[in-house]
This record gives sequence, C-alpha cells and structure tokens, in this order.
Amino acid sequence: MMQITIHRGTRQIGGCVTEIASGGDKVFLDFGANLPGCGGAPAKPVPGLTAPDGTNSALFLTHYHGDHVGRLGEVAPGLPVYMGATAREIYLCYLRRVQKEIVGHAGAILPFTPLRPLRRGGISVTPLAFDHSAFDSYMFLVEGEGKRVLYTGDFRLHGFRGSKTLPVLERYAQNVDLVICETTNLARDAIGMTERDLQNEANKIMRAHPYVFVLCSSTNIDRIGAFYHANPCGRLFVCDEYQKDILEIVRSRHAAKSRFYDFAQVFGYRPNLDSLMEERGFCMLLRQGAGFARLLDRYRGRDAVVNSMWSGYLKGESRSAALANFLAKEQLIFLHTSGHASAVDLAALCRAVHPRRGVIPMHGEAPERLADLLPGEQVHLLSDGEVFTL
Ligand SMILES: [Zn+2]
Ligand SMILES: [Zn+2]
Repeated sequence: MMQITIHRGTRQIGGCVTEIASGGDKVFLDFGANLPGCGGAPAKPVPGLTAPDGTNSALFLTHYHGDHVGRLGEVAPGLPVYMGATAREIYLCYLRRVQKEIVGHAGAILPFTPLRPLRRGGISVTPLAFDHSAFDSYMFLVEGEGKRVLYTGDFRLHGFRGSKTLPVLERYAQNVDLVICETTNLARDAIGMTERDLQNEANKIMRAHPYVFVLCSSTNIDRIGAFYHANPCGRLFVCDEYQKDILEIVRSRHAAKSRFYDFAQVFGYRPNLDSLMEERGFCMLLRQGAGFARLLDRYRGRDAVVNSMWSGYLKGESRSAALANFLAKEQLIFLHTSGHASAVDLAALCRAVHPRRGVIPMHGEAPERLADLLPGEQVHLLSDGEVFTL
C-alpha cells in the first residue's frame, strides 16, 4: 500500500510539498515557499520532514525554483536531501547572492544521477531529466510495494528538448499506477511559441537594433542560450559577474555534451568594455541595480529592451514594484514563453503514461479542468493534507 499526501499545492501554483509513504518509509517531493504576492495556504510543519517522526525519510527536489525549494531551511537536521548535480551548483551560486542564510542547508544537498534509482527503505526514486525553465530539472518515478507513481514537478514540451521528452517517459515510465501532474497553464493564458521560435524572434530584434538589453531569470539557462545564439556574429554578449559564474557552471559541465551550452564568448561587464560595446553592438542581460540603470540611460532611444520574464511580474497581484520602477522609462518588447506545459501537452503526457489509477492534478489554480482534457482517465481532485491510498 502506498499513501500519497499533498500537504500543500493541490489548488495553488507553488508552495508545494508532497509525501509518499510506503512500508513505514517516506519520501518527500519538493518543499517550496508560496510564490511572492500570490497568497496561498500557510506553511505548516510536516512530520518526518520538518521534525523526525521515527520514519526513514528523505527529500527529493525536482528543481531550484523557490516554489519547490523555498522551505529548505526548515528541513529537520540530518534528513537527506537530493537534487540534480548541476542544479545544486546553480542554486548555491544563486543563494550566495540573494539568500545567504540557507547556503549551509543547500551545501548539504546530495546530488543524484539521472536514471539511477535511490532507495529510502522500501521506496525507490528514479530521477528522469525533463525540460523546464529551470536547468537540470527532473520528474520522479517513485516505486514501493509494487506501486509506481510518476511525479512530474514542473515541465513543458515546447522547449529545445521538446520532441525528446515524451519518448523518455514511454521508455522509463511504463506500468505507472498514478501520475501527480502540474497544471499551471490550465488557469493561465495558453503558451504562445516554442523556445526555438523565441530564439528566431530574438534574432529579428537583434538584427533591427544594435544595442539590446534583455531581462530574464538568471537561472533560466535555455532562455539565456536562446538569446546567446540569436546574437549576431561579432556582437558582444555581456552580463554581470554573477550571471557569468552561473553560465560557467553550465558550460564547464555540459558544453562537451551539447554545444548549445558552450557559453565561451560571454563578457563580464566592466566600464573598459564601453567603447567596444558601442562599436560592435551587444546583447546584455539586465539585472535591477544602479549600474544597469546607468547603461539603460546611456543607450535610451538607440536600444531595444526585451522583457523575457513572465508578464505577471509587471502587472497583477505578483507585480514587483521595484522591477516596475527599474523599467519605468523603457519601451519594453515582450518576448517570453512559458516554462510550463500547455493544456494540450499536459493531456499528451498523461495519455503517453496512461496511469492505471489515473491522475492527481496539483500546482495549478484550476485543477478541475484536467478532467475535461482527459475523458476516459480518472482525475482525482485532492485537498491539501488529504491522504490518497494506492
Ligand atoms: Zn513551480
Ligand atoms: Zn518551476
């Protein structure tokens, strides 16, 4: 028997923590904070995760977004925590800049290897690499007492690796009893374009403007790659030293496997680059701050400023006043695509896996819409804390 409890995240995007218990052992999947400004259920203690409860337990993290890892500082001392190896390094680099107080917790994270099952008592967890707007993201295949559950975490099928993703599941996630599936885009606008289309659009903007600033997440590596490869030959690709460090983590570990991640021609900004930037043109990754504001002032009217982040950061309840203020004088070109699967792709994944006992939706504000997309499949709508027995 397997017992599944989504402690938080059945009806909200983020703040997620899921427990799978089997044979007296427990694994926890993600331990996130609520998204800033989105409200969401309050954080509660989770026995076995925030304090020992006598069970043999461990925490597995799908990726480094705060809505999946943000409560790492509350994990009980000594509880093993696992994450992808490159994701761990990127997360540590990010934390050293923005959240130093949990660097110690993150430093204790153990790296896992894709496709290599990890055991916690009678439960095994196999990480399956999957595409998302965080680099080195995973789904987890959780097995115990003859039951198999696929936990999707956040994913999409329209990224650069899109066509290769469903065959991974068809190969490694067969005979699955249950899928626990993210449903972010069932309540949001449909996604517009593939990451490859976005790269082509970025190239058009760059050909029309010699000086291009881009605002995007420092850890959305595939998006940065899209702009890096869209930058015309001879132009500089410039960012700050923090961003350069993140790209170097990826380059050093992945360039040999894929040239897409060979960020060899990235310049860390220094004022002595100014004349070369003026002469050759550039694509520069922006971050809020006085130094970047001065550069925006210098090029205003001659540049293009691309907003490649989710539109909700500039309007609506998740709006960041500081970001809106930073960009107040700019004419923004919006060029973004979702890190989450479209409704059609959510259904395609569930159909490809065809779980015997159906699907539990989570990580969305309209999970009930999944039933309309999957006629003939069982869709189980849970509440936070409700136990589902498999
Ligand atoms: Zn998420
Ligand atoms: Zn995410």
